Amino acid sequence: MAIDIHSKQCASRESRLGSITGYSGTLQDMGQQVSCSGCPEERKRCFSQASMCNSTCALGQLSGINDAAIVHHGPSGCAATAIGISSNFNLLATALGKDRSHFAYTCTDMTEADTVFGSTENLKDVIRETYNRYHPKAIFIGASCVSGVIGEDLEGVLDDMRGELDIPLAPVHCEGFKSQIWATGFDVSYHAILKYIVKPPQKKSNKVNIIGFTTGTSWNSDADVRRLLGALGLEPTYLLASSSIEELEHTSEAVASVSTCSTLGAYFGVGLETAYGVPYVRSLPPHGVRGYEDYTRQLAKIVGKEREMEAYMEQERALYLPKLEKIKEQLRGKRAMVAMGPGFGSNYARILQEFGMKVEHLSAWHFDKQYDDGVRPTAFQYLLDNSPNDFTYSVNDLQNYEFMNTLNRVNPDVFISRHPGSTVWAMKIGVPAYNVYDEYNSFGYKGTLRFARTLLNIIINRSFSDNLAKHVRLPYTDWWMNQPADTFLEKEELEVGS
Ligand code: SF4
Repeated sequence: MAIDIHSKQCASRESRLGSITGYSGTLQDMGQQVSCSGCPEERKRCFSQASMCNSTCALGQLSGINDAAIVHHGPSGCAATAIGISSNFNLLATALGKDRSHFAYTCTDMTEADTVFGSTENLKDVIRETYNRYHPKAIFIGASCVSGVIGEDLEGVLDDMRGELDIPLAPVHCEGFKSQIWATGFDVSYHAILKYIVKPPQKKSNKVNIIGFTTGTSWNSDADVRRLLGALGLEPTYLLASSSIEELEHTSEAVASVSTCSTLGAYFGVGLETAYGVPYVRSLPPHGVRGYEDYTRQLAKIVGKEREMEAYMEQERALYLPKLEKIKEQLRGKRAMVAMGPGFGSNYARILQEFGMKVEHLSAWHFDKQYDDGVRPTAFQYLLDNSPNDFTYSVNDLQNYEFMNTLNRVNPDVFISRHPGSTVWAMKIGVPAYNVYDEYNSFGYKGTLRFARTLLNIIINRSFSDNLAKHVRLPYTDWWMNQPADTFLEKEELEVGS
C-alpha cells in the first residue's frame, strides 16, 4: 500500500484504510479484532446525531495557509465554516506578525437552477474574481455534495483556466457524502498539496516539517520547539497553520517530517516519503514523558545526532521531572474518561497512565486500524501493549448522546476531550472536564508538567461543575442514561421506554 500523489483523488478512509465510526467493546477486544481478522467490525447506528463534514475539515486545514485562497464550489451553507476559520487564522497571523491579506474564502453559492444546468461558468467567474481581488499564490477549489452529485468536472474547469492564471489551481475532492469520517478531509487537503503545490527537491534544507493544527503560539511553545530542534541544528516549518505556499513548495527538501497527531499528519508524511524520500518519523507523538522521548530520539537518529539530543534531554529532565513526580503523587489513582480523535485519544490515555491515573473509558471519534503505509497507529499499539488495565473502548463520531450514557455509567473524576462541544456536557452532569484544544499543552517535559498541574486543579476545584449540575435540566431521561452501552448500535428499532 502506498500513496500515489498523481492520482486524481484520494479515496475515503473507509475504503483506503478500512476505518470505522461505530464500535463498543474494550481496548483489548479492539486490538484482538485488528490482529485476528485484520479489520474491526463496523457497527451501524440506528440513530445518529449530526457530526462534521469532511469538506469542513479539508478546507479548514487549507485555510491555514496565509497566502492561498479557497473557492468553495457549493451552496452558501456549505461555506458557513469560513466564518470561524477566517477569524481564527486571522488572529493567529496577527499574533505572529504574518501577512494574510492574500487569503480569501469565497463560494460559488450554487442554487437549485445550478443543479439542473450546471455551474462551471459561474465557478470560472468566481475563481477569476477571487484572483483579481486578492492575488493569492494558489487557489484551492473545494467540492461539495451538490457539485459532486451533479458531476461537475473540476479538473476540466481548471485545465481550461491554467493558461489564464499564473498560479497553481488545485481541486480538492471533499464532497461531504464521500466519507462519514471527517478526517478523510485531512487526507484530501494534503493530497491536493502533494499533487499541485509541492515541488521536487532542488537541495536539502535543515527544515523539519511539523504537521499539526497550530503553530506553537500558546505558552511560548514555539520557543520550546525551536530550542529542541536547535540542539540538532534544525528549524521548524509549521504546517499548515500560518504557512505559505512557498514553504509548502519546499517541504520535499526537508530533513524529516514529524506530526503532533498521526491521524492528521500520516497522509502527508507518508506521501512526502514515498514521492521524495523525506523520512516520516513514526514515533509516539511528543506528549507525555514516553512520547517526547520516543519522538526526540527517532528524530535525532535520522540526523545522526543522538548524543547531542541525549545531552539536551538530560538538562530538561533535571528541570521538570522532579516537579512532575510530586504532582503525580496527587494524581495517582484518579479515574478518567477520554474522548478524542483516535490518535490523540490513545495518546492522552497513555499520558494519564503515566501519571498513575486509571483510564476507565476511551471514546474515539473514528478508528483507523492502519495508515497508508500499512503501519498500525503507534499510539494505539503502545496502549494495547502497555496499558495496566483493559478498559471499555468505543468509537463514535461526535455522538454526544452515546458518550453521555457512558459518562453517566463511568462517573470519572475527570473527563478529557478534544472538542469544546463535548466537555460542556460532562460538566452539566457534574464531571469536571478539560478540552485539550491546543496540541502543545502537553508538549515535552515542560508541557507534560503543565498538563499535570492543570488536571490536578480541575479535579480538586470542582465547585463549578458541581453547581452547574445542580441547575441544569438535561435533555436526557434516566431511561436513556441507563441503557446498556451499545444500545444504539445495530438495532433495527429502539424500544422506547417510559
Ligand atoms: S458538503 Fe455536503 S455535508 Fe458538507 S456542508 Fe455541504 S451539503 Fe453538508
